[in-house]
Amino acid sequence: MESDKTSYLGLVELVDYEYLMDIHGVDLAEQIYAEFIKRLQQWIRDCDQSKILKDKRFLVVLNRLDSGGSLELATAKLQRLFDAPYILLGQPTFLEINAGFTKINGTELDTAGRVRQARIALKHAKQDRVFYKLYSNNSSTGYEQQKQLIKTLYRALDHGEFQLYYQPKIHAGYGTVVGAEALIRWHTADNRVVPPNAFINVIERHEIARPLTWWIIKTAVARLAKWPKSINVSVNVPPLLLQDQEIVDVIIDALDIHGVAASRLTIEVTESVMMDHLEQAVEQLNKLRALGIKISIDDFGTGHSSLEYLKKLPIDELKIDRVFIKSLCQSNNDQVVVKSVVEMAHSFKLKVVAEGVEDQATAALLKHLGCDHLQGFLFDKPIPAKDFEKRHIV
Ligand code: C2E
Ligand code: CA
Ligand code: CA
Repeated sequence: MESDKTSYLGLVELVDYEYLMDIHGVDLAEQIYAEFIKRLQQWIRDCDQSKILKDKRFLVVLNRLDSGGSLELATAKLQRLFDAPYILLGQPTFLEINAGFTKINGTELDTAGRVRQARIALKHAKQDRVFYKLYSNNSSTGYEQQKQLIKTLYRALDHGEFQLYYQPKIHAGYGTVVGAEALIRWHTADNRVVPPNAFINVIERHEIARPLTWWIIKTAVARLAKWPKSINVSVNVPPLLLQDQEIVDVIIDALDIHGVAASRLTIEVTESVMMDHLEQAVEQLNKLRALGIKISIDDFGTGHSSLEYLKKLPIDELKIDRVFIKSLCQSNNDQVVVKSVVEMAHSFKLKVVAEGVEDQATAALLKHLGCDHLQGFLFDKPIPAKDFEKRHIV
């Protein structure tokens, strides 16, 4: 019967192709890409259609799968094909993929429309860090909701509803406050305080990231000007903005206006930015460092960190992610990780910050393992500037 067969259009992508080119060079990256295509060829059946797109994604039409679970079976097979590592120069290398699918039923939408839907599904798979997603109308509702949220956020920025909270960073040896991380909060008109995880992901992919981040930098530097010279401030900068030429001017202006030394400002960036556009990132980071600004790698250990790439990056500090800290006292593995990160970082002359320190025993252990600075609820939560000054600045 016709009705119990469904066809799907899918897009499959090799994760971080540009990163592969950066770390392995074009030839080896092409070799990996060829393996990606080879495995996909093993996946599709004779009755399916496929095409390699200009953006290197693999477009596939899975024709007439049995309805009810067959897409799951097809994707399970796809995932299995990528379970085994590819041996590149004698080293096992895992090929990571993402996919997005959309159902083809009836003729109400042309191929371009279907490809657009599959692209949306693929984007959502990447955002949610899952291997694949199937497009549904909800995806576009999600899109509408996002648009609405962005509009509200622009209004919030105009109306001064954002506030920076500050969380102290402590010297592991002396126990003194060496700085603070500026963390955004949204005080809505109806008196709610919204933490960043509710909106930061949306912001970081949207144009609003620019005016908001420029505001964060200016506000944090203005506050820093009132603090003793021994205290620094760290601000989080979304990956994409690091490639924005304007950031350098915004920082120079803020420091000039308030007469603050560049060395008192640290920019925290996550690893993903380096991964996607290594050359550009290095160039831009060099410019910032030439001004005297410090660069910190945030959430270290959760991304693609490797010795190879730390060597290439102009940075000053590594911030070990909370996941390695929260059970540190109980986990021998985490202790080994922290110890080796500290050794490696110090050999590159980098400072090490541990974040998410919640108890005294963990703080003592981190000090013993050689961490330079500590941050976490043990010392204080992120709090409004006035409270930070009252509690931590004498
Ligand atoms: P992050 O950069 O890793 O910031 C540290 C987060 O850990 C903060 O959450 C902080 O409140 C939380 N934290 C601090 N100490 C502890 C602890 O001892 N235990 C636990 N469980 N958590 C602790 P927050 O303020 O909710 O921020 C979450 C994330 O949102 C930040 O993670 C950062 O990625 C992003 N974010 C926050 N403010 C900004 C900002 O101004 N700009 C940008 N681009 N991103 C921001
Ligand atoms: Ca941070
Ligand atoms: Ca972090």
